[in-house]
Formats: sequence, C-alpha cells, structure tokens
Amino acid sequence: MKIGLEVHVALPTKSKLFCACSTDATEPNSSICPICMGFPGSKPMLNRAALDYASNVSRTLGCMPAQMVSFVRKVYFYPDLPKSYQITQLQEPVGVDGSVEISSKKVKIRRIQLEEDPAKIIRESGYTLMDFNRSGIPLLEIVTEPDIASEEELREFLGELRSILYYVGINIEKELKVDLNISLSKARVEVKNVTGIRNLVDAANYEIKRQTELTSKGKEVVQETRSYNEAEVRTESSREKESDEEYGFIFEPDLTSYKLPSSNAKVVLASKVAREYSRKYGAKEKTILELIQFDRESYALMDHAKDKAEMQKIIAVIELLKKYESTGIGNEKFEELLEIAKSGAQINAELIKKVKSGQRVETSSVNLQSIDKEITTMIKNHKELLKEYEKNPKAFNFIVGEVAAKLKANPRDVAIRLRAVLEKGFKD
Ligand SMILES: [Zn+2]
Repeated sequence: MKIGLEVHVALPTKSKLFCACSTDATEPNSSICPICMGFPGSKPMLNRAALDYASNVSRTLGCMPAQMVSFVRKVYFYPDLPKSYQITQLQEPVGVDGSVEISSKKVKIRRIQLEEDPAKIIRESGYTLMDFNRSGIPLLEIVTEPDIASEEELREFLGELRSILYYVGINIEKELKVDLNISLSKARVEVKNVTGIRNLVDAANYEIKRQTELTSKGKEVVQETRSYNEAEVRTESSREKESDEEYGFIFEPDLTSYKLPSSNAKVVLASKVAREYSRKYGAKEKTILELIQFDRESYALMDHAKDKAEMQKIIAVIELLKKYESTGIGNEKFEELLEIAKSGAQINAELIKKVKSGQRVETSSVNLQSIDKEITTMIKNHKELLKEYEKNPKAFNFIVGEVAAKLKANPRDVAIRLRAVLEKGFKD
C-alpha cells in the first residue's frame, strides 16, 4: 500500500470565503447573495479570517512560507457551480513542502490551498435540487505525497492531522473528508470522497488489487476519477467530472495577491508534548496523548502543573475531571485539587464541585477520608485480632497506633473513626 491523501477541511469562519453570507444557516438557500450564487458582475472579496486559519495550519505543518498568495479560476461546467468556475489556488498556494510526523516516518505534505466549496446537489424523487448555503464555504485542501503505507500509518496520520487542526482552532467533529490517490503505474487514479478509516483502507486495497490485476494482464490503467461504493466495497469509474489535467485554469482577475498574515501564535503539537512529557516525567506517552490530543484545557492544566506535582498524580486528577465532565476549573483550583489528591483523599464529583465553587475543603475532612481508607485496609489485614476488639483493647490500640503513625494523624481522631467504623459493623 502506498497512498496519498487529499484532505478537505471546512474552516470555521463566521462568513463565507468571498462574501459576507453566514456559514451556519440551516434552512436551504437562506444564506445566499449574488457573489456566492455567481451572478454576473458580482465581485468576490477575500475573508481574512480564512486566510489566517490557512496560514496557521501551513505554519504548523512546517510548510515553506509563501511570499504571496493568489487565486485562479478552475473552469468546469457543473450544476453546483453556476458561474462555471471554482475559485481555488494553483501557482501560489498557502503553503508547500510541509510534513506531519507520525511514529514511523514523516508524511510529506505537498501543498495546502484555500478554495470555495460548490453548492450542494440534492437528488430527490426524480428532481435535482440545489442548496446554495454551501456555495462559497471556505475549504482548506491538504495534499500529501504518497507516503502512507499501512492502515496503522493512515490511522495515525489522520489522528495527528485532526489534533493539529484542533489546536489551530478547527475542530473536526465528524470524520475528515478525504480523496485517495493511488498510482501503481504512471496513471493517476483518484477515489473521491471517502469517509472513515475503514472505508479508506477498503477502497485503497480494492484499488491496489484492481490496478495490479490490470497491469499483470498487460492492460493499461486509465487515468481517472473514481468513486467508492461502500455497500459493495468497490470503486467505480465516475465520469461526472474531468481529471485535473483537463480543467482550464485562468488567473482570477477580481482578487489581488495577498501577503500571508504573520503570526506568533504558538501552536501545540499534542504528540510532541506527549513524547516530551513522557521522557521527562516518566508517564506513559499514550496516556498523555489520549488526554490532550483533542483537549486544550487538559493540556493547559498539565502544562501548568507539570513541575508542581508528580505527572502520575496530575494525570489521575485530569482523568477524574474528565470522568465527572468537569470543565473550566482553572490553574489555581486544579492545584488545590492536586494537593487534596496528594493527601490521599478520594476525589469525587462532590469534592470537585466544592473546590470549583471556591468552598474551603477542610483538610481535617480530607484527613478523615484518608483515615477511613487506611482503617479499612488495616481491618482487612487484621480480622482475627479485631474479632474481640471490645475485650481486647490492645488490638484496638494497635490499629489506632499504626494508622496514626502512617498518616501522621492525631490518634484521638483515628480512635473515633475506628470506633465508628467498627460499631457500624464492618463487613468485608
Ligand atoms: Zn454570499
């Protein structure tokens, strides 16, 4: 397997790429204007926020910084495109020559470009309907070299790319939309719009088998665009659009050239952080990555506390925050929670709530919890001794002494707790 990917990412801007129409309309054809419907005489204007996102992704993927960014018209005739061209990029894209690091290799990024999404075609009971809300939504296209050689690499690459996008502020909630490039011979074969890792792998395997069989029979592989039929697990020739080489590209005269915005924004590479913290603080890389890959807040807490407590403790407390779906605790209160965890107390939803609301958590009540925990352990280990604890004060005092010494607690407190536990009737 040796595949390249074209990943399409819709950018989370408030308005479309070349007009002021909102990007989050639900009622069909409710967010449209002469620009995104391609009326004659309408002129596009570039949305700077889209360029900012694109530039940040480009930088994070280590692309060569583009001097200037410009746009072209990719001309083709299709009902989703009433002006008969899509505004995209050719010679001066946002970025070229980047890479994404996965555990086994660097997957090279050939180019990143900005373009507009066409309208949506809906085929329904014999009609073809059009929804122009999607027309002009900013898309980022990320094209890799054919460097991905296994399912494992594919999975890791897509996870890593999604995490990078997340930290740039582009949260992909569903799967990434991907086109596959598989070229065993000179002919470039593209499988359009495959979603989900399972489908990508199946489509790639089918295509590799198909192309190998053709070549072994001495037949030629046709350069074409194919689609993936999920139900039948096969790719099919789709003659809907021509291949790239047949498109006409012309310079877009309505847009100027743009300088890429400079940015000092520090973008987090979660996998790099996980590797570094694992090496430095001895926690499992995989555990750290799982916590922070798509969670800015957990990363911020971990980063803040990394030199203040053991990484294992930090991880445990973050895991508890996630378990109880508690967000927005902030650094200071997180430290407080860490202190409580250090004292050996059980952290539960109620305690988290208390700390978050700024209520003072009595250290004594914390201590009591850890005393109870220790008492339970001691009772388990000394059942025989305690059977006659009423007649045998030595046994009772022995436990009190042990627990008090271990927790550096007040023996009187321990005695009160032990009596309470025993009177309730301890059962193991
Ligand atoms: Zn519009």
